[in-house]
Amino acid sequence: MSFPDLVDRLADVRSRIELARQRGGHAQRVEIVAVTKTHGIDAVQAAWQAGITKVGENKVQEAVPKMDAVAVGCEWHLIGHLQRNKAKQALRFALVHSVDSLRLAQALDRAAAAATTSQDVLVQVNTTGEASKGGFSLAELQFALDELRECAWLRIRGVMTMAPFDASEVVLRSAFGAARSARDMVRAAGFDASELSMGMSGDFEVAVEEGATLVRLGTILFGSRSL
Ligand SMILES: *Cc1c(COP(=O)(O)O)cnc(C)c1O
Repeated sequence: MSFPDLVDRLADVRSRIELARQRGGHAQRVEIVAVTKTHGIDAVQAAWQAGITKVGENKVQEAVPKMDAVAVGCEWHLIGHLQRNKAKQALRFALVHSVDSLRLAQALDRAAAAATTSQDVLVQVNTTGEASKGGFSLAELQFALDELRECAWLRIRGVMTMAPFDASEVVLRSAFGAARSARDMVRAAGFDASELSMGMSGDFEVAVEEGATLVRLGTILFGSRSL
């Protein structure tokens, strides 16, 4: 399969992002992470040709064969839950968005130390208390900061969140606003944490209005997924 209208879709999404950015007034830079999960490497190649430099996958075992098969120079981002026993393989990603527990942070830190390589990560927050979603509550994150600081091989670059599916705009805004507060809290604690990964195909404009710096877009770029 190829993606003939990707260039047009991207142009439309970029202009919607820019308008949302101006409405929100946070004066941030916004970058697209093109989510290629379930698609073949043709999606990665099409995205690269259309000017995308960041590609997102939600599973290590799906991403690694694609990384090995594709020749383009994009950055790979891990956006889905990571099992601790796959921490070593996660070092292949430029950014792991989904550090959703202290134990996972510590496992990644140990893997990075063993490889003597620093790993960029985001801390995933769950600001709505949805049981089906992973991540730190704001209170848990506050308490975890000292232990996260001990993870010397991790560079905590910001916060990621997933809003409830099909939520009203009011709920989205409060979830995204709470994630922004979490990012600001991490930054105030002395981490070099400027990134705010939030917003998917259905809610990216509200996310950008609330300060998103990385939007994770799949369906709106590549069409619906068969899996
Ligand atoms: C699949 C996925 C996305 C992209 O979702 P779309 O609605 O297709 O844009 C974003 N973030 C995460 C964590 C995902 O798993």
